[in-house]
Amino acid sequence: MNSLAISRRDSLQAMVGHVPVGGGAPVVVQSMTNTDTADAEATVQQVFELWQAGSEVVRITVNSPEAAAQVATIRRKLDAMGCNVPLVGDFHYNGHKLLAQYPECAEALAKYRINPGNVGKGSKRDDQFAAMIETAIKYGKPVRIGVNWGSLDQEKMARMMDENAQRAEPLSSDALMREALIQSALESAAQAEAIGLSANQIIISCKVSDVQDLVTVYRELAKRCNYPLHLGLTEAGMGSKGIVASTAALSLLLQEGIGDTIRISLTPEPGESRTKEVVVAQEILQTMGIRSFTPLVTACPGCGRTTSTFFQELAQKIQRYLREQMPIWRTEYPGVETMSVAVMGCVVNGPGESKLANIGISLPGTGEVPVAPVFVDGQKTVTLKGDRIAEEFQAIVERYVQENYAEGGALRQHLPATKTIPLKAI
Ligand code: SF4
Repeated sequence: MNSLAISRRDSLQAMVGHVPVGGGAPVVVQSMTNTDTADAEATVQQVFELWQAGSEVVRITVNSPEAAAQVATIRRKLDAMGCNVPLVGDFHYNGHKLLAQYPECAEALAKYRINPGNVGKGSKRDDQFAAMIETAIKYGKPVRIGVNWGSLDQEKMARMMDENAQRAEPLSSDALMREALIQSALESAAQAEAIGLSANQIIISCKVSDVQDLVTVYRELAKRCNYPLHLGLTEAGMGSKGIVASTAALSLLLQEGIGDTIRISLTPEPGESRTKEVVVAQEILQTMGIRSFTPLVTACPGCGRTTSTFFQELAQKIQRYLREQMPIWRTEYPGVETMSVAVMGCVVNGPGESKLANIGISLPGTGEVPVAPVFVDGQKTVTLKGDRIAEEFQAIVERYVQENYAEGGALRQHLPATKTIPLKAI
């Protein structure tokens, strides 16, 4: 891939379990479960699936005594399955109580997410925030100060609105909201440091659901602090809208070196796997040339020159096959994630694009001789024909992987060491 080097913003480095965040470490992909954490079995299964898809950190909600009581069990079950993905606890309203009452939960989590807007009201706010920070210090855990515009500290916002009204040139309501988000995060981080939490145990996020607001807020955050930044467009939405909005916002910021860990907040369509958010995060980073996770398929859009759906089916089948192999390939064939595969619809761009990929196939368009030349590292090696083109092409891909990545591949990423373990083994 011909990509420009992106210069990353200087930041401190926090360790979330064994995963470094910030300080020049590769941008970390994280995700969040949508199971009831009190249901340990369902949560273990979904965390495992997210990890197998490549999520390097997984957040779980810890919202009740029943949920907190299961966290250590979830950790033990995942460890028994060979899944060492760090778990982050998402706390709102009662985190100070749950962390105090369930020390096994506090110990099992690799990071606590604290929302300054949901820590407590009035005089209780500071004490409850301090209690969570003191627990983090006691167990040596980093925290994410995670501000969200949907739950911004209302008392702070009211104070800032009063102050703004007194200004000769008041900020617009949007600018004031953005400033309130940033101040809420940075003041809470300063408060955590004053309590005794090390600066390198703090990660910051300020999430909004509008692309331009997110870009403005994170550019400002990046200027004003050197904490690692957790980046994500909150409530991005469903389907293509959620993917496009997240990609638009994150791409602009990542291109400027802003963002040390990312999460894509997609609403799954009914029946859709939660792992979609991991795939989208990986594909943003990979298509930008920032990190590689899985071989990607280059495919043409098709047009009037190819009226059969065969090439669409082949492109889909090969991409699915490549992704499904990655839990095993990651450890057995390091560097395979950088491999490129092309599946093209006709002779116009087919041979040219196929030669640029590690492996490419140029399928016959309408009216062409029904043969499909295959190119390996730019050279035509074989021409496939008949009913088994898909199977034969997949076999060629598999052989290429075995021959080229078996020992000491080009790149080893900070990906979890994976083993395929049947879920019924839980
Ligand atoms: S490669 Fe052929 S089928 Fe594919 S878009 Fe181009 S002209 Fe159409």
